[in-house]
Amino acid sequence: MAKSALARQAASAGQLDVAEAAARIAGCGIRVTDQRLQIASLLLSAPQHLSAEQIAEMLRSTGARVSKATIYNTLNLFAARGLIRHLSVDGNCAWFDSNVAPHYHFRDEQTGQISDVALSEVQFSRLPQPPPGTEMAGVDVVIRLRKRKEH
Ligand SMILES: [Zn+2]
Repeated sequence: MAKSALARQAASAGQLDVAEAAARIAGCGIRVTDQRLQIASLLLSAPQHLSAEQIAEMLRSTGARVSKATIYNTLNLFAARGLIRHLSVDGNCAWFDSNVAPHYHFRDEQTGQISDVALSEVQFSRLPQPPPGTEMAGVDVVIRLRKRKEH
């Protein structure tokens, strides 16, 4: 028993972000597995917006063998538990945000790039009354961008 604990310690030496990723996964009540750890340490390494496709591509380039279904299931599980945020910006593919603090987004229609907009930058003067028996869970704002036309 002491031996395996030592081996584990040795294996994780110098991989602080992996240890941190493991702690954050566990902190959301999710069981830590190798594949979940790979996906979390990739996505949580920086404040960023990545599509499931991009994450699959990045994992493949590191030689990790994780199926697309596992990636989708893992990302959806992470999002459901609040570790990451699923973004509704694009009907064609699923985007995930490593920043779960409330904020809005710019999305460039040409490049597809997504960037953050602070809550304080947007002000609502009126919102509809939610239907009976419901309450507002959140408001998503995506400001679509295009190149300004030259005159
Ligand atoms: Zn964001």
